[in-house]
Amino acid sequence: MELIFATHNPNKLKEVQQMMPKSIKLLSLEDVQLFDEIPETAATIKENAILKTDYIKARFDMPVFADDTGLIVPALDGNPGVRSARYAGEHKDSEDNMDLLLKNLTGDKDRSAYFLTVISLFMDGQQFIFEGRCNGMILHQRQGEKGFGYDPIFQPDGYQKSFAQMDMNQKSIISHRGKALKKLISHLNGIKIV
Ligand code: IMP
Repeated sequence: MELIFATHNPNKLKEVQQMMPKSIKLLSLEDVQLFDEIPETAATIKENAILKTDYIKARFDMPVFADDTGLIVPALDGNPGVRSARYAGEHKDSEDNMDLLLKNLTGDKDRSAYFLTVISLFMDGQQFIFEGRCNGMILHQRQGEKGFGYDPIFQPDGYQKSFAQMDMNQKSIISHRGKALKKLISHLNGIKIV
């Protein structure tokens, strides 16, 4: 079966394809010749994921899924949240985003935080939602070189290192995205994780 993954990111596609059953071939937006920047203008992470699959389903008669992720810091009223990519501005720069987050968390603010990934799947005329969450805390400074986004300043619960100090396999076992993907894959395999 062919399944569109609504992403322009070849690394994400590769990572997810590796986890998929062999019977499923993922197609990126480039594979289906869609070069548009899909709008991510909704007010919540879940609505953004749905917005992306809605955009594709209006143009292609094929099953599609999309993911959207945010870092939620309760002490900052849930920010960066749905604006995680653009926290420090439209230029979407991870270093600036981390600097702003560290600045906004100075003092004795509660540093607990979590990543939330929502996957929207539209298939056979039906909409499905899968969520994955990873709890942790925001470190006082960057640690590690791997990963992307906020990885150097996020330490998952139960570990003494940041996401940026873990290799991709270790991260994907415990990460928000890994957990949401597992639910998607189980659904595709016909076995539901509850
Ligand atoms: P997206 O919805 O996957 O594009 O994620 C939105 C933003 O959240 C990204 O631009 C990153 O800044 C951040 N983000 C998403 N996933 C991760 C992660 O696994 N580690 C660190 N930052 C992430």
